[in-house]
Amino acid sequence: MLRPTLTIDLGAIAANWTALNRLGSVETGAVVKADAYGLGIAPVARALATAGARTFFVATLDEAVALRSVIGQAPVIYVFSGYMPGAGPAVKQAGLRPLLNSPEQVAAYRAAHPGAPCGLQLDSGMNRLGLEAEDLAALDLTGMELSLVMSHLACADAPEHPQNAAQRSAFEQMTAGLPGIPRSLAATGGALLGPSYHFDMTRPGVGLFGGAPFTAARPVVQLEIPVIQTRTVRRGESVGYGAAWVAERDSRVATLAVGYADGLIRAMSGGVSLFAGDRRCPAIGRISMDLLAADVTDLPTAPDSLFLLNDLQGVDDLADAAGTIGYEILTSLGARYERVYIAG
Ligand SMILES: *Cc1c(COP(=O)(O)O)cnc(C)c1O
Repeated sequence: MLRPTLTIDLGAIAANWTALNRLGSVETGAVVKADAYGLGIAPVARALATAGARTFFVATLDEAVALRSVIGQAPVIYVFSGYMPGAGPAVKQAGLRPLLNSPEQVAAYRAAHPGAPCGLQLDSGMNRLGLEAEDLAALDLTGMELSLVMSHLACADAPEHPQNAAQRSAFEQMTAGLPGIPRSLAATGGALLGPSYHFDMTRPGVGLFGGAPFTAARPVVQLEIPVIQTRTVRRGESVGYGAAWVAERDSRVATLAVGYADGLIRAMSGGVSLFAGDRRCPAIGRISMDLLAADVTDLPTAPDSLFLLNDLQGVDDLADAAGTIGYEILTSLGARYERVYIAG
């Protein structure tokens, strides 16, 4: 093979959305920010729409405009960053709904887009984005077409954390004065906390793409990497920068065409494996910018390619080895990979 190939299973993404949708009886949106967590917004959003998603969320105006152009006019698109200066023409043209998160954004949107639908983002305790209770109380919302009021949980991946229930009751209190406006609090982690966190809409992201905390998700990505060469390394010789790996036996070492410039975080060096089918070949030495070494001594023949992501080693396994989270592994997946979409 010529280049590393990332195979993205759109059928698995659709199945994961459906499984998350079945957790409750409310609408399930889909978060496709950051190019659908690095997997490609156009094919991913189309697959989600076909599966039944009608409401999408992105982080930025540019992402929202790109999404509108691939998904048609029908789906609702919300923008987490709200209404930033200069956003007006694109918001109008693409029919976007900003999630307004400060009194200034509310005033600016109201003045420029009278009667146009939008959402409100409340701060229920994360202190990242959103209106505080006193901001909300002071707002004049007459004449505004509010289609959603939302907030975000800081600790939903830790079900026992007391902040989950505290944020839920803060959200309930803050929204008590906004009757009839649909409410949303839960991302993937919150959806898994149970129906009392679902309100009127959940908005999962990472779970759609097979990441924790949705441990029952179907795996979505496979990464196959070509072997550039296989060499013999004698007992006592070293491999790679810093001579960090030393052969304890005469070995066969495969050098693969992928490195930290492709998002393989250098800190995961030595903590992951490459796979030939289900046979595990330890990654050895330090990850270079464009190269990675694997010990293939125990394979019967020299491989032409090996897998770094498959059903046996997923994004969260790489994340554990790198001391990070699956989200960062997904959104770091390299621009040099060929992306191939399958229907699963
Ligand atoms: C990213 C994000 C989500 C989706 O979160 P996941 O943990 O990926 O499911 C939902 N809501 C907001 C506000 C977000 O920023």
